[in-house]
Amino acid sequence: MKGKVKLLDATPHINVKIITVLGAIAVAVLFFFGLIFAIAAAYNPLRLLTSAVLLITGIVIAYYITRKPKTVIHQLELSGQMKAAALKCPNCSASVDATQIKIVQGVPYATCAYCGNTFEITEEPKW
Ligand SMILES: [Zn+2]
Repeated sequence: MKGKVKLLDATPHINVKIITVLGAIAVAVLFFFGLIFAIAAAYNPLRLLTSAVLLITGIVIAYYITRKPKTVIHQLELSGQMKAAALKCPNCSASVDATQIKIVQGVPYATCAYCGNTFEITEEPKW
């Protein structure tokens, strides 16, 4: 029973790995055939187009499986205290709505609705 639970827990991680492995195989196959077609293009120039399509597809898959999310924006879960505290724009001192807060690469940012100024919110709000 314990083993089954463990296996279920690990499933999402395994799925990601399978996709990466399958992607890597697809890339290898695409590059292999891409090269074959590139060599074959010596006899038929039209094959160069097939070769290019295969190589580009391979590059796209390689990019897709190796990429990391560059910018992660998710909603900030504000504590009651943070919500209650009025955020002030350092540029025009207007109060900024807490719903305007975005987390960009782990740093909370707020955008002023009045002057459009984007500023970093310090972890300890000053009030
Ligand atoms: Zn402002």
